[in-house]
Amino acid sequence: MHRTITISQIRQAAQEAYEESKNISGGANANYIPYLANVDSGLFGLSLTLVDGTSFNFGDTAYRFGIESVSKVPTAILAMIQHTPQGVLREIGADATGLPFNSIFAILLENDHPSTPLVNAGAISACSMIAPQGDAAEKWNEITRNITELCGSSPVLIEELYESETATNFNNRAISWLLKNYNRIYDEVDMSLDLYTRQCSLGITSAQLAVMGATIANHGLNPVTGKQVFDPEISPKITTMIASVGFYQHTGDWLYTSGIPAKTGVGGGVMGVMPGLFGIAAFAPPLDDAGNSVKAQAAIKKFMQKLDLNIFSGDTVTISSDGKE
Ligand code: GLN
Repeated sequence: MHRTITISQIRQAAQEAYEESKNISGGANANYIPYLANVDSGLFGLSLTLVDGTSFNFGDTAYRFGIESVSKVPTAILAMIQHTPQGVLREIGADATGLPFNSIFAILLENDHPSTPLVNAGAISACSMIAPQGDAAEKWNEITRNITELCGSSPVLIEELYESETATNFNNRAISWLLKNYNRIYDEVDMSLDLYTRQCSLGITSAQLAVMGATIANHGLNPVTGKQVFDPEISPKITTMIASVGFYQHTGDWLYTSGIPAKTGVGGGVMGVMPGLFGIAAFAPPLDDAGNSVKAQAAIKKFMQKLDLNIFSGDTVTISSDGKE
């Protein structure tokens, strides 16, 4: 079926989804990273950027929260830019684990393979792949430059979060050294883990994540800055990864009930990608048992339902600018 949706219908659906999700309770802030446990759990924002660059923001969309695992997406893209999607498939993989984000068992089950750059093991591996090899400062520049290009504005390191994570990341240290044992770390181990920990500690806003989602939805062309950030062939590859493992052990439930591939982080952010149409992002700190924001999930699902959108519907959807304010 071919459908046309107006920009004002989209704006209204986003506003209603925000209003209706505001008072949803449940979940708890991540408590295994001390900084995250202390973030105001009442914060909530919903942002949307269409592939024509139009953006809508409701609530706390300028608050800088820890990007956490959403950072796995831009660094996977950077690894694909530098090493091709086939190279990332070979060195890391593109398979869902069906297990928690920090699972050591998943590494053993997958015959020593980190599975996908969107779980901790694969993300640490991806950081180790980033060029130039052996140069931590330049690798970090590349990682942050790439995020800046995807969002159209820079992230800012939250020093306190970085220190908090570094002081408590024992499980990730175990993952890194286990991967080293299997020859899946392609640079110095502690440096690769540190880059991963630092990228997770970047402060980002939901408005920025919506632009990143829109850049992925728009074949690598940032609709706000007009810059082609990555080759269009990477869009379906990264969206496949987001769709297959973005919510860890709850990914199937999420995709089945929401109809949109999305990636979460324990900072409370969720970034969704609707290919050819828009990026959407929501932020609220309280999480469910898999580490996914309760309110952000509700808001994005409501938005999709209000417009009757689903990536698997087979509908071709055109967004018309009629009614644009
Ligand atoms: N930095 C966090 C960790 O490695 C990220 C986890 C997440 O957001 N799911 O544990």
